[in-house]
Amino acid sequence: MDSKNHNWSRRDFLRAAGAAGLGSIIAPIDLLAESSNELVAMPTRPFGRTGVRVPILGFGGSLDLDQLMLRQAAKWGATYWDTASSYMGGNSEKRIGKYLGKYPEDRNNIFIVTKSHAWTVNGLTRDLNKSLERMKTDYVDLFFVHSVRSINELDGDIKAWSEKTKAGGKIKFFGFSTHSNMEECMLGAAKLGWIDGIMMSYNFRLMHSDRMKRAVDACARAGIGLTAMKTQGGGSVKTSSETELELAGRFLQKGFTDGQAKLKAVWENPHIACICTEMPNTTILMSNVAAAINRTKLSSHDKKLLHKYAQETRSDYCAGCTDLCESATNSIAPIGDVMRYLMYSRSYGDRDRAAEFFKRIPQRVRAEMANLDYTIAEQKCPQKMAIGKLMREAVGTL
Ligand code: SF4
Repeated sequence: MDSKNHNWSRRDFLRAAGAAGLGSIIAPIDLLAESSNELVAMPTRPFGRTGVRVPILGFGGSLDLDQLMLRQAAKWGATYWDTASSYMGGNSEKRIGKYLGKYPEDRNNIFIVTKSHAWTVNGLTRDLNKSLERMKTDYVDLFFVHSVRSINELDGDIKAWSEKTKAGGKIKFFGFSTHSNMEECMLGAAKLGWIDGIMMSYNFRLMHSDRMKRAVDACARAGIGLTAMKTQGGGSVKTSSETELELAGRFLQKGFTDGQAKLKAVWENPHIACICTEMPNTTILMSNVAAAINRTKLSSHDKKLLHKYAQETRSDYCAGCTDLCESATNSIAPIGDVMRYLMYSRSYGDRDRAAEFFKRIPQRVRAEMANLDYTIAEQKCPQKMAIGKLMREAVGTL
């Protein structure tokens, strides 16, 4: 990827920031530039042992992709674009295709990641071909099997498929995304020797556990590129406890939003190559780019406070350890998935998307979920979540 195209002048950035009404986040940007001619660039990191460097900020494509936003993301160096054959019923990939149709010269600068839910090699081939057609490109940079819950889902057939498809040039690299049992999937992948990249939930809440630390280190040693998602760890920091008040005050003093501080906490780990996040409007794109190019690090006290906040509010966030709770209900209720849909609705304010995903759960399972006994699941839950109450809330509201 050509980093020269990711430079923009301080003046351009400030003009765009002004248009987006982002005066409050510009202070750190202003400190960056000693003269008005100084150029700033999106930092990049190596993506495992692929030999490719990717920007530390990636553009998540599960929401409708606006052409102007894509153009702006490309200009500002957020050139890791993540999509999936299922996002927006294929429209997310079509939007990328529309963009590349208009700006074909950008193709080599964009690191395109797409995913397939298919569990057969024929299904993967069918989805990949459809993705290429929609995106008007003859290759994707990184192809993921979508939402892996156990490393056993990646068998010898899939390994052979990935090698053959890479050799044929339709994909450059292969891996998987995971929201559930991430740590076990990552540890398993590190032993396989044929996984190039993983996108997993990772944030200021999940990063402190021993098993996540071991998983990240094992992947780094195995040369697997890591992309973090769900980096906000739920909703915004409120101001209803002493810790929250202190956090809000410290971020304000430094000119950060809490969203920016949470991104910085993830970038502290050099093994995380890229943060992939949804950026539905210019304000959020600008805020995230500002955080990426700003060099102010979180202090050790900032990090301690974030950790303390994570512990105090842990029952608000599902850590994705579904092997613990889902086996405790004598049912196939997908507790981890439902918790994620509730997060979309409660924390992101995106009830429509939450309801759309929720309705994909078979009717029989949804009906059963409201009446299950979750006592043992709640006892096993390390986050001490009120699983029964939340599952009934999902059935009632989604
Ligand atoms: S509900 Fe609890 S046990 Fe189940 S996945 Fe979430 S955090 Fe883990």
